[in-house]
Amino acid sequence: MSNVSLIDPFDREISYLRVSVTDRCDLRCVYCMAEDMTFLPKAEVLSLEELDRLCSVFVELGVRKLRLTGGEPLVRKNVMWLVRRLGRHLESGALDELTLTSNATQLAKYADELAAAGVRRINVSLDTLDPTKFTAITRWGNLDQVLDGLAAAKRAGLAVKINTVALKGINDDELDSMLAWCGECGFDLTFIEVMPMGEIGAQRIDQYLPLSMVRAKLAERWTLNESDYHTGGPARYVEVAETGQKLGFITPLTHNFCESCNRVRLTCTGTLYMCLGQEDAADLRTALRASDDDGMLEHAIREAITRKPKGHDFIIDRRRNQPAVGRHMSVTGG
Ligand code: SAM
Ligand code: SF4
Repeated sequence: MSNVSLIDPFDREISYLRVSVTDRCDLRCVYCMAEDMTFLPKAEVLSLEELDRLCSVFVELGVRKLRLTGGEPLVRKNVMWLVRRLGRHLESGALDELTLTSNATQLAKYADELAAAGVRRINVSLDTLDPTKFTAITRWGNLDQVLDGLAAAKRAGLAVKINTVALKGINDDELDSMLAWCGECGFDLTFIEVMPMGEIGAQRIDQYLPLSMVRAKLAERWTLNESDYHTGGPARYVEVAETGQKLGFITPLTHNFCESCNRVRLTCTGTLYMCLGQEDAADLRTALRASDDDGMLEHAIREAITRKPKGHDFIIDRRRNQPAVGRHMSVTGG
């Protein structure tokens, strides 16, 4: 395999792969999924061995960071086998970071094993600290289960970043107390604007809350110092002087973050999306299954990277009341 790294047509080096290991989830967050989702037949989903092989080829081609996501990664049967397998690339030094984005419902069970496999940080999605609202937003989740998971993560020594989607009329009155709570718990926090992905049986415009407004409101109480901390990702960070924590804002609709994009996204069927906000994709499953030799796979990956677009064009407005892309966030994992 050639050791020339993956560079796209806009000279961006691809060093970060996000992998949706399942499209299934034990929750149904209102902005993410419709209530009655049809999930993929199991036969279409890559086996854990195939996911390991695919991820490992990306690592050989220069990917330094892997994030497992979903759906909910921790509901995939035997997912810890994959985490432990991928952990070997941390040990060899080929990978800088192996991490997860999770809703934390299963974290109490897995936090210790994740830490033992080399995971150091985890992102947890949590939009409210009010048990009734939590159940309403997730359609049936139980907040205590998530809080137990977070406590276990802390005990296991995992650094936690909370992701909170800002939802108009739902949690906008709570974002300030979320920030305070994260400060007390030692968690970083990132607010996310709702993105127009997939039909969800509701109007996006009704959920959309611009983060510029959130930031202005928080600045009335907190000292938000500009920070040059950057992950190559979509978040812009400030440091909260009162707590020392990092606070991120992901604003795809009010701020374009594509110039420094270093990532691609793999679904659990082996489809590679070169941009979260575009439909174009490459099928890697065919190459994966066609040969035990990784040459074809490398070729398919390199060809896909030549198609990475310059950026997305998300829009939410009343006239264009359609998702910018048809797939749900749970397909590519955010
Ligand atoms: N189940 C895991 C979780 O919730 O963290 C991982 C997958 S989830 C799809 C990844 C992230 O996408 C979560 O932080 C979730 O809040 C966010 N998300 C889902 N749908 C979204 C949407 N339409 N707009 C913005 N963020 C969304
Ligand atoms: Fe599940 Fe995560 Fe989507 Fe919520 S945001 S429904 S937890 S995949």
